[in-house]
Amino acid sequence: MKNMDLSSPVTVWKEDDVVDGRREKALVAILRTRGCHWSRKGGCTMCGYNVESLEGIGVEELTAQLSAVLSRYEGEGMVKLYTSGSFLDPLEIPVEMRDRILGAFDQAKRVLFESRPEFVTPEILRELPDHASIALGLESASDTVLRCSVHKGFGVKDYVRASDAINDRGLPVRTYLLLKPPYLTERAAIEDTAASIRFAAPRSESVSVNPLNVQKETVVEGLWRRGDYRSPWIWSLFEVLKVKREFPGVRIFSSPSGAGTQRGVHNCPECDKRLLDALEKFNFEQDLNLLEGHQCQCRKEWSSLVSMEDLMRTSVDVHRHLEDELAL
Ligand SMILES: [Zn+2]
Repeated sequence: MKNMDLSSPVTVWKEDDVVDGRREKALVAILRTRGCHWSRKGGCTMCGYNVESLEGIGVEELTAQLSAVLSRYEGEGMVKLYTSGSFLDPLEIPVEMRDRILGAFDQAKRVLFESRPEFVTPEILRELPDHASIALGLESASDTVLRCSVHKGFGVKDYVRASDAINDRGLPVRTYLLLKPPYLTERAAIEDTAASIRFAAPRSESVSVNPLNVQKETVVEGLWRRGDYRSPWIWSLFEVLKVKREFPGVRIFSSPSGAGTQRGVHNCPECDKRLLDALEKFNFEQDLNLLEGHQCQCRKEWSSLVSMEDLMRTSVDVHRHLEDELAL
């Protein structure tokens, strides 16, 4: 455990984001809570949240954490409050605390937080202030991928219900998608995320594509260590982001963690930095030309890998096998 002090947030930093089409300064805080309820039931194959989370965090500790976050607040237009789970889970953030936290940032144009769909109900949405914005981690619009590759613990219909409810309440939805969960080939991963963007974009103000980053003590880390998993290529991420062309009004972006390392999205040392710089520009300018025309010797390696895996059709077989095995 990095820091056992329950009265201080896991971390606080600043970055840029976009509100109503305009670049804004954002204050980002990860609050320490008891953690994601789903991680207690096995959790997702790629998620390392359980490592950070702790029992015994109540109103008193969260009040102290809020003060610490407020001491860093300098009037940024956007505030992003992450927990290692769901901000709307009353066991993570008691209701009185949730109202106090959101109220503390009522000068901000936008306060974004994450929640699993099971905590998003019309009743709770009515209680939220108008500057709230909710991020839903859909990961994939395929129920098979959610069940077999992600072990997400909810289905596409749950996301649909929650995003409809948020849209009905008039609050913006940010959808997170996971590029390349385990047991998918590179091409299957590209196709899955491209299809998922097409599904989620009409329900979202913004779609954030998160290439899988191998986190400690996860199922994926086990696969990765024995050579059965490689994080997605930046080439694949660029392919996926080109779906933006079909949704001019929706911000589609990617701020990958661990990018350019073996655990995160990467190509080769020759081109990683150049492509990630182009990605950072694309995130704000949304100009597809920024993703085009990049050359590197590793592009050939990537494209032959994609065709080779096509011949093996591994992901299709793995999923068919799992579906039989689990009688899904
Ligand atoms: Zn390269």
